[in-house]
Parts: sequence; structure tokens; C-alpha cells
Amino acid sequence: MILALPAGAMVVLIGASGAGKSTFAARHFASTEILSSDAMRATVADDAADQTATEAAFDLLHTALGLRLARRRLTVVDATNLEPWARARLLAAARRHQRPAMAIVFDLPLELCLERNRLRGDRLVPEAALRRQHGRMRASLSALPDEGFEPIWVFSSPEAVEAARPERGLG
Ligand code: GDP
Ligand code: MG
Repeated sequence: MILALPAGAMVVLIGASGAGKSTFAARHFASTEILSSDAMRATVADDAADQTATEAAFDLLHTALGLRLARRRLTVVDATNLEPWARARLLAAARRHQRPAMAIVFDLPLELCLERNRLRGDRLVPEAALRRQHGRMRASLSALPDEGFEPIWVFSSPEAVEAARPERGLG
């Protein structure tokens, strides 16, 4: 699947922890194009898993996002983005700068996310929390068409993730 990315688009990754969002982002995008909530937590607290740093991390993420969109720089938002209000804040930023808002949903099986989470070692998310995240991802699939992202790409299998080819300057 070709993912056509216009100049200066905002690309929002949506998915549970362990779904492969950060791996996908690192494979296809420059590090400067990726705004990651974990990286922002590390920036403010020296610990990507420090949940007390979440508010500051997202303040920083949104500041960087707005500055990048104003310059029409392609920007990938690497966070779980499972809550409608979190996505609404991102959509508002894209609207403010009149930039396209695109979504990629990692609709991978819960078992796969749990397995990868177990193998990860660092930043282990409690299993119950991961199950809740997965449920919110599924709920997001039905909510998204009314939110304002266009297009919404859905990866329903690891093979779909593997086959995806982002292409710049299209659309
Ligand atoms: P995130 O929490 O959604 O950002 O997920 P990550 O990208 O951090 O991936 C979670 C774990 O799954 C890591 O250990 C990755 O190495 C592994 N992983 C991610 N994507 C793939 C993939 O496409 N294939 C395989 N085999 N492992 C993957
Ligand atoms: Mg990640």
C-alpha cells in the first residue's frame, strides 16, 4: 500500500503500546520528522516512561508540532493517540496551520501487542493497561471517520505494516 503524503502533512500514529508505531516511524521517517511522547518525556525527565512527565511532554510535543506545521514540515506524531480529546488537540493544530491531517491505525491483534510488550523488557506496560489500550484502539476505528482525519489508513496485520510504503510529495 502506497501512503501518499503531501508536503507538510501531519501524520498521526494510533495504536496500543507494542503495536510497532515507533519501529514503523523509525523505518520510514527521519528522526527530526518524528515527535514522540516517549522522547519528549525523556527530554523533560530523563525517563521515557515517567508518567508524571506526561503533561510537560505533550506541551513540548505540541509546541514543536505547531512550529513544524507552520514551516510546512512533514511531521509524524508517535504517541498512542487513543483518546478522542488527544486527537482533537492534534486536529486543531493541523487546522490552525491549514495542513492535511492523516491517520495510521495499527489494528494489530491484542496477542501480538502483548507478546511484543513481554519481549520488550524495558518500559513494560501492565497487561491490563495494554488490554484497555487495545479496546480504545478498536473504539477509535469507529470514531475516526467523524473526526476529520483524511485519509485514515488501517494496518490490520503485520504484513500490512511491512507492505506500507510512504511516499512524499504526493496528494
Ligand atoms: P510501539 O509501542 O507501538 O511504539 O511499538 P514499538 O515500535 O516500540 O515495537 C514494540 C516491539 O515490537 C519492539 O520490540 C519492536 O522491535 C517489535 N516490533 C515492532 N514492529 C515490528 C515488526 O514489524 N516486526 C517484528 N518482528 N517486530 C516488531
Ligand atoms: Mg513507541
